[in-house]
Amino acid sequence: MKDDDNPMSAANTAPRCTARSKRTGKPCQGPAVAGWTVCRFHGAGGGHPAGKDHPSWRHGMRSQKWISERKMLNDMVREARAMEQLIETTD
Ligand SMILES: [Zn+2]
Repeated sequence: MKDDDNPMSAANTAPRCTARSKRTGKPCQGPAVAGWTVCRFHGAGGGHPAGKDHPSWRHGMRSQKWISERKMLNDMVREARAMEQLIETTD
């Protein structure tokens, strides 16, 4: 039998859920929701949007933007201190 004879062949080749069963420890194997790596039972389509509208948002100082800004600033300070050390040791 050819593959395109079976109307379910497209459904059976759909990407599978990457979650692992809590109960059996085996992969879920359910079809993943389009645009997600997991099935509808394992969190696809769920969750809050990131940012100010997220219920856990407090002050924004731990947002992705602030974390990367702080990292950049700390790197610059570290670099400046290394340069300072270099100048002090050459005296
Ligand atoms: Zn699943």
